[in-house]
Amino acid sequence: MEELEITEKISTKEPINVWKACLLKIKENVSMMTYNTWFLPIKPIELSDSTLKVQIPSQFFWEWIDEHFNGLITRAITDVLGNDARLTYVIAEDLSFIDGGDTVTENSVSPATPIEKPKPKQTFESNLNPRYTFDNFIKGEGNQLARAAAGAISDNPGGTSFNPLFLYGGVGLGKTHLIQAIGNQIFKNFPEKKVIYLSSDIFTVEFVESIQTNKVNEFSNFYRSMDVLIIDDIQFLIGKEKTQDLFFHIFNTLHQSRKQIILSSDKPPKDLKGLDERLISRFQWGLTADIQPPELETRIAILKRKAETYGMLVSNEILEYIATNITSNIRELEGCLIKLLACVSLNSNEITYELAKKTVKEIATDRKTTTLTIETITRVVCEHLGVAENKIRDKTRKKEIVLARQIAMYLAKSLTLSSLKTIGLHFGGRDHSTVIHACNSIEEYRAVDVSFGKILDEIKNKVELSS
Ligand code: ADP
Ligand code: MG
Repeated sequence: MEELEITEKISTKEPINVWKACLLKIKENVSMMTYNTWFLPIKPIELSDSTLKVQIPSQFFWEWIDEHFNGLITRAITDVLGNDARLTYVIAEDLSFIDGGDTVTENSVSPATPIEKPKPKQTFESNLNPRYTFDNFIKGEGNQLARAAAGAISDNPGGTSFNPLFLYGGVGLGKTHLIQAIGNQIFKNFPEKKVIYLSSDIFTVEFVESIQTNKVNEFSNFYRSMDVLIIDDIQFLIGKEKTQDLFFHIFNTLHQSRKQIILSSDKPPKDLKGLDERLISRFQWGLTADIQPPELETRIAILKRKAETYGMLVSNEILEYIATNITSNIRELEGCLIKLLACVSLNSNEITYELAKKTVKEIATDRKTTTLTIETITRVVCEHLGVAENKIRDKTRKKEIVLARQIAMYLAKSLTLSSLKTIGLHFGGRDHSTVIHACNSIEEYRAVDVSFGKILDEIKNKVELSS
């Protein structure tokens, strides 16, 4: 009865009705509290073909939904609008568009928003996340040199002696934030400059793909044409000799023409064992700066700022408790606040000392997963299922390989912080919707097949032990 009514309404193609139909499906799968907190505030605004555009209250809100309910929303919208269905988001605060699966793409659409400088017509994706700015990067003793160099480069890319800038430091200390902030600032200062950010593992994946499709020259020329090349986590080039070789040539071209190169790594250049000596010496041509873990005062300042950003009311006492107990990693500090925020939004609790204590403890338990890589996951999954690792990236549709690939994608999504786009690239350049589909399929198998659930748990245990 209800079904019929929905179908009829949908035929009128009103966004509100399409969204209502989705909500009915979503409601069946989540608690009332979750539904009220995370789904009711979403407003449908436009429907064209099979793309529904909705407005959501904030960037944080979107990230939360994307991380926790992406599968559910995708299922609901494809049930209602068919397989081509897409959901795009507009953020109410600044009306910047966010793609249904991954991070930010276009900019302001609101006629009320003044346009400061015309954005250059980018024919490629810079991959910069606008969330990473200098403004919201808290300075401290541990990042002083790195921050100062980053500022100088943003004012004069390619023109300082900090070329390349080589930043290194432990996990979650702000390397990605800072190098992307440079990119974003250069974009602001010099809209005509071509800036690109990517991690070295994506660089490798793209390179391999270019070999397969006979496009190595195009690939190489593309990077040689940049004004600013930002490569994150350069340590992942270790052991990848052909990629290192190509990167060496790109580096030389850019450096000779005074283009800015910015690199990050978990270790200083000289400790990158297994990396070509020629690269190591070039990495030391410019400035090598480390980022050290923040001291207590900086940790408190960071927490205060983040709490403000999320619009949370947390007492100083609790912030200090968190900052005292989470010491080595800013991502964990942030994770702790987000967990607290989730607890209070979902259960309408107050943020108490007890709750903070419990959350800090949970963070310590989660710690293991942050060091896990997609490579490790792939290796363990393949070993367990007896599938050759190189097959998993092929186009093959053989049943056991498809399953292995889907399990690996699913585990990569649930056990690492990688985006859907990154995961897709790791598995033979598939796009983010394939990853979503894989995650949904695995959830479904698990729901209907107990023995599958057991196998999945076994693999997951092995993966966690290998991290
Ligand atoms: P890394 O790349 O070194 O592993 P990230 O740049 O991803 O670390 O930082 C982890 C999180 O901590 C990010 O959300 C980032 O915004 C935040 N963060 C790191 N350093 C700072 C800082 N100095 N001020 C504010 N936020 C920070
Ligand atoms: Mg990083």
